Amino acid sequence: MKSLQIVEWGKPLEARDYPTPEPKGTEVLLEVTACGVCHSDLHIWQGYFDLGDGERLRIADRGMQLPFTLGHETAGRVIAKGPDARGVEIGESRVVYPWIGCGVCADCKRGEELLCVKPRVIGTWVNGGYATHVIVPHARYLVDHGDVPVEVACTYACSGITAYSALNRTRITRHEQTLLLIGAGGVGMNGILMAREVLGCKVIVADVDPAKRKAAMDTGACDAVFDNGEEGAAEAIRDWSQGGVDAAIDFVGRPVTTRFGMACARIKSTRIVVVGLYGDSMKLSVAALPLRLMTLEGSYVGTLADLHAVMRLAKAGKLPPIAVTGCPLHDANAAMERLTDGKVTGRIVLKPGLEPARPDTRHEEAREDHR
Ligand SMILES: [Zn+2]
Ligand SMILES: [Zn+2]
Repeated sequence: MKSLQIVEWGKPLEARDYPTPEPKGTEVLLEVTACGVCHSDLHIWQGYFDLGDGERLRIADRGMQLPFTLGHETAGRVIAKGPDARGVEIGESRVVYPWIGCGVCADCKRGEELLCVKPRVIGTWVNGGYATHVIVPHARYLVDHGDVPVEVACTYACSGITAYSALNRTRITRHEQTLLLIGAGGVGMNGILMAREVLGCKVIVADVDPAKRKAAMDTGACDAVFDNGEEGAAEAIRDWSQGGVDAAIDFVGRPVTTRFGMACARIKSTRIVVVGLYGDSMKLSVAALPLRLMTLEGSYVGTLADLHAVMRLAKAGKLPPIAVTGCPLHDANAAMERLTDGKVTGRIVLKPGLEPARPDTRHEEAREDHR
């Protein structure tokens, strides 16, 4: 098997060859057909998360060993099963739920494996999908994507469930309520595409990039777009929503964007859900939380049940596909550079089967761009 690996924090990934693993016990071996390049991959690749005020959460301190294979938005075809693997057949195409815990603690048993303190997350703790093959510990983490194109379906494993679970945290229940989504990147775009279906409310979007605002509007899934870099944008949003939005989701996660969400919110009873991991720290008026009955909440990926729920929406045709750009596996470094530069609308998806020498590559990318 071939893997594109971090061999040194922040340095280009290197292609390495390894013997293809043989699945043991309940393990399942997939041949990777698609793997989304997620913004959090950039943080792991750099080796830290920015906690603000010069503090960093270092990946190496969490015990991750190099070389390491990124990739937590993986889909593939089942090519081998351990002797105890049940519930999946050779040849089937599946999306991998990567947020896997120890499997035996109370959180894991409740189905909230992402809360587990002994994580075995594929692509952030154990080797992931920037490779031709990936091992999954149990078939229960494999989700059938039906007729949903594999390069779209794989993105639901992170950006899809991250958006879905953040939407549910807003506690919006009425159609006349307004939700503000800040940041129309990969995760934000999935949020835009599913907000009306999941919450049934009015949806507005803020992004500083005109191309992303246009892409958001072109989905037909939001009611208005705003430039949050523009003077007076918060006031314009409060006017539009007749007194302020009921909830905001910050898909960027910078002080300036979280503050923007708070500034756009109605005076009383709002929820600001922070999803993005951009980082840094901010001052916060503590008294504003009780006085405004404001909830400031973090949301991190989602459960296996969330992935099944998102896949049900997609299979039922209720979730328009995110724009996807296919990229050969060995061009992963270029893909990560484009994401670093903020140049990506929708998602770049690595496809190990996509060889650059193939004459139809350009074609395939162009076609996928227009999805
Ligand atoms: Zn991710
Ligand atoms: Zn556990």
